[in-house]
Amino acid sequence: MPKEKPVPLELRFNEVRAEQAFRLLSALWRERNTPGTPGERQFGGIVLPQDIYPRPDDRVAHAIWLYIAAIFMRGGVVSEDPFAPLYRIFTRFPWMFDPAEFGSDADAQKTEQDVLDVFEAIEMHNYKKDQHAKAWVHNMRLLADHWRGNPLLFFHGVKDFEQAFARIDGNRKTAVRRGDGILGMRRKIFSLFTIWLQEKKLIRYFPCPIPVDFHAMRLLWALGIMEVVSAPAFVPKPEKLGQDIIARYEVVRVTEKFVDIITKWSQIFIHKIGLSHVDVNPALWCLSRDMCAGHFQNGSDGRGQAYRTPELIESGDLAWPLNYHDRCAFCPVEAMCGHAIPNTPQYLYGLLMRMRRVPYPQKQPVIPGLEPFVPLRRHKSGMLRVSGMFEGKRTLPKAKPKSIYRDQNLFPDDT
Ligand code: SF4
Repeated sequence: MPKEKPVPLELRFNEVRAEQAFRLLSALWRERNTPGTPGERQFGGIVLPQDIYPRPDDRVAHAIWLYIAAIFMRGGVVSEDPFAPLYRIFTRFPWMFDPAEFGSDADAQKTEQDVLDVFEAIEMHNYKKDQHAKAWVHNMRLLADHWRGNPLLFFHGVKDFEQAFARIDGNRKTAVRRGDGILGMRRKIFSLFTIWLQEKKLIRYFPCPIPVDFHAMRLLWALGIMEVVSAPAFVPKPEKLGQDIIARYEVVRVTEKFVDIITKWSQIFIHKIGLSHVDVNPALWCLSRDMCAGHFQNGSDGRGQAYRTPELIESGDLAWPLNYHDRCAFCPVEAMCGHAIPNTPQYLYGLLMRMRRVPYPQKQPVIPGLEPFVPLRRHKSGMLRVSGMFEGKRTLPKAKPKSIYRDQNLFPDDT
């Protein structure tokens, strides 16, 4: 029997919908600090994970802090979680952020075991500790040996994100010639790192995609901005929790190719319509985490064993929770949103599953001044709500590792 050809992955983007949603959300994001505006009600006071902890004043040290932190955003982490242990490392073991300690020229080159010892000392609870230790050593050595200890140099003279990515992409010859690429940074994480640097004005602005994480994918698909035209078939495994239910709905596997298609489209499109990824990205991320996460169907039961399907809800077999807080009633793009996309299939199996969204039947009137429930960290008083001994501090202690400052202002025209 001739072998069946695999179905190719093909996505289509509805740019009319995309422009409508991106313009609205980025306008709201931009006015988040203007009192009394819709943007302030929607996004006011949100503190993004990278801003919760104080950061180094020095621009190269700041870039290294973000370079390390970005890698910890891989996989299914709650974005805030890695910053607390990283901050403990920074204050107690500043040499960990000094590339020279890891470079080939170091007197006593630091090893993965040294890094693991530090993780142990600060009681870091991360199930991928070994992988992170390996990446930490490799990436700091890469910085020391090939980039003069300065991650800002990845971006020197580049016209766009892809040019910078080509320099550090370990899968390409350009990066290999420079001594291999960055471990643990594919397009999603590298675009996140790039946006952080641009947002902090550590590098100049150039076109960049949005980091295509679960939240970006959820919104693009829920709002019908992205459609999956074809994808390799998903065959559920009976022994895997909930896969039989997942298979009844639209499913696509989140592969690197899938992420890359969205990444490349978003960079070109956002630039084409004259918006900034620095606004679109956090607006999408916060909307999905703040609001979509609260929609009843975006949760699951029994850790992915059961999903709140439209059929169950509409037949009355599954009731809305008592005192349900309908966050969608406050959503600026609700009119465009036709689908629910729970996070469990992605975190359990690397699958995105889309089902019809059932609007909450008992619409609540939106009362001006009554903001939606917001689980994201906010600070209204100007004080960061950070627990423990760092509360309220906004600058790091002056513990300067010895060599990370040596390249500062090398290319001031590139900032
Ligand atoms: S309507 Fe609800 S689920 Fe849809 S985008 Fe808005 S908050 Fe998210």
